[in-house]
Amino acid sequence: MRKYLWNQLILPGINLSDADYKICYESVRKFRPKVFWGFTSALAGFAEYIENNEKDVSDLKPQLVITWAAPLYEHEKKMLMSVFGCPVTNIYGTREVGHIAAICPHGSFHINQENLLVETDDVDGDYGGKDVGEILVTTLENTPMPFIRYRMGDVGRIASSGCSCGRSLQVMKDFLGRTGEIYITRDGRMISPNFWCRTFMNDRIARAFKRFQVIYKRDGNISIKLVRKDNNSHEAESLLKEFLKKNFHSDIKVDFDYVEKIEPQISGKYQMVINEAKNS
Ligand SMILES: [Zn+2]
Repeated sequence: MRKYLWNQLILPGINLSDADYKICYESVRKFRPKVFWGFTSALAGFAEYIENNEKDVSDLKPQLVITWAAPLYEHEKKMLMSVFGCPVTNIYGTREVGHIAAICPHGSFHINQENLLVETDDVDGDYGGKDVGEILVTTLENTPMPFIRYRMGDVGRIASSGCSCGRSLQVMKDFLGRTGEIYITRDGRMISPNFWCRTFMNDRIARAFKRFQVIYKRDGNISIKLVRKDNNSHEAESLLKEFLKKNFHSDIKVDFDYVEKIEPQISGKYQMVINEAKNS
């Protein structure tokens, strides 16, 4: 029904295997969507499937890819843009309070101020001040259950627009990830999930590893799960060690745990960083 009335095609979005992506690919080829809208992990996984299996989508020419329900990391954005050949945006929101912010064509994360009051809270100075804090949302529309300063569990900074797209809506900056995913070094530097994205986007490292997961252990050390692309990862491993030496205190032990697969969470999202120390 939805397909005909709304001209939408709904495909599965969690725990997808290559066989599921194959079905998605065939459905998409027939449906020829103008816009792809889905979980970041599902769309990034779909793009990866298309790229790895040398499927051709060059004639589909969608106008936009909208990712949501998880941040869109640089490497995912790059891959989606190259596979689908169109702009890629990301919506930040939750089921409880709706769409909080979305990336405009000029790359700013504009806040949906018409419907929400978005603030940050950094009373303890946990995130080094400079207005960076946990994001709090208050809904402005009259509903039976308003949310007042609802804690999102994400860390960011709110700034005035100044965006060249012309929208005057405030923007979210320094979007650092979930509160539990941020690691503060002894000298007070913040290591956000983006640090790991940038590290693993390094050409030589990206060539060697398919997937990774960083675990900040309770004893203060770090364990990194790695899924190799091939067995020749010695050079990438020493480069990785070099990056870590520069950014973490020298007495922190980092071990590499080579695995066949990193399982997603029940929601289907891949957790890039697990902070056992904070989740205890
Ligand atoms: Zn803008």
